[in-house]
Amino acid sequence: MTYNTTGIILRYRDIGEYDRIYSVLTADHGKVDAWAQGVRKPQSKLVAHLQPLYLCDLMFARGRRFDRIAQVRVQNRWPELWGDLEKMGEAMYAASLVDLVLRPGTKEWGVFELLLDVLKLLHNPPQPSLTLREGAANNPPLKIRGGAGGVMNSFALKLLKESGFGPELRNCVLCKAGVEGLSRHFDAIRGGVLCEECFHKTGTAAFPVSSLTLDTLDTILVSPLSHLEMPETVARELKTIANAMIRAHFGEEPKARYFVESIAKELPEMAGV
Ligand SMILES: [Zn+2]
Repeated sequence: MTYNTTGIILRYRDIGEYDRIYSVLTADHGKVDAWAQGVRKPQSKLVAHLQPLYLCDLMFARGRRFDRIAQVRVQNRWPELWGDLEKMGEAMYAASLVDLVLRPGTKEWGVFELLLDVLKLLHNPPQPSLTLREGAANNPPLKIRGGAGGVMNSFALKLLKESGFGPELRNCVLCKAGVEGLSRHFDAIRGGVLCEECFHKTGTAAFPVSSLTLDTLDTILVSPLSHLEMPETVARELKTIANAMIRAHFGEEPKARYFVESIAKELPEMAGV
């Protein structure tokens, strides 16, 4: 039995002499770990179409342990990304984060759209608007603050929410009382804010975050993914929240850096040139 779906290649690992297992985030079947038979044989035509981040139309054949990739057609190779190692790093980080957070077969439908959105944003970053570009010489064009970094924070936090780890921002995670004040305490392990009293009672590893950061996070979680203008301090606190929650729930951060370094050597081949 076979099925067709669209998917984004997250990563792969070699098995046996000629095979690979690909981790694919599909639009209709969640994350699929799929077997590609003979893909590392020199004459294999499949391998050029199965590279990390590629958006593909796929046909899978159901298997006992792994479904098998029967056909693949590339929709988008994101050519702009392959020419920019920094953007490539961000995109790889996004893919490895999805791979870390999702279990095979789970059905978090929103994650596919979210990963597609971040790839599109990294591939074609929005241009500054006309009014900003028309500024006089003493009023230079506004740079999009944080650039990809801002998007990556938003991506990580939205991914946590889509996969069921959305942070509690309004009520204390222990006593459920509404939390007020300019500075709050964030407890990544318990997944949200602590009131002053609970913070002092538990003496946990909670860290301070500003109410502006929490308001920004609230906006990020309910809005479509976008480049968001924000003060540096807010961006930094959002990054701390995202990283602390990933560590708290998954015990590690994705090995994207290592991954990027290892693929850099293969870049020309993988860009399909
Ligand atoms: Zn409390």
